Amino acid sequence: MKCPFCFNSDDKVADSRVSKDGRSTRRKRQCNVCGKRFTTIETIVVSSPLIIKKDGRRESFDRQKILNGLIKACEKRQVPYQNIEEIIQSVEKWIEETNLKEVKSDDIGKFVLGKLKNIDAISYVRFASVYLSFKDINELYENVSELIKKQS
Ligand SMILES: [Zn+2]
Repeated sequence: MKCPFCFNSDDKVADSRVSKDGRSTRRKRQCNVCGKRFTTIETIVVSSPLIIKKDGRRESFDRQKILNGLIKACEKRQVPYQNIEEIIQSVEKWIEETNLKEVKSDDIGKFVLGKLKNIDAISYVRFASVYLSFKDINELYENVSELIKKQS
């Protein structure tokens, strides 16, 4: 690592600390040439898999796309942004853990729905109607009544 003050790359690590969630490490470094201190952060880089769409086309994983879909589904509902962010993070974590090279967009949709189910029923139905693309109203009804049964 190049020293930001004198640009020499001779330094020693004075302290190294893993973050609470275990996903990044902070290192306090001291330049061996000018003696100044600086900090570096090392984080995990998520390797994004390809998403297989319903028609078989592949596209790269797009966090923003899921986020937009969720924001739309939760529009005017009392779902804190924090919850939406947590869903996205759990999707990323799930993808990272399964370590698949390709993931079906359906599977991502279902995963998100599994989380959304416990947060807000209306948002769930909205998201489901986009992601599960129900054949007709009966299929949608079956899905929703199942949810209602589970909640009561
Ligand atoms: Zn230096």
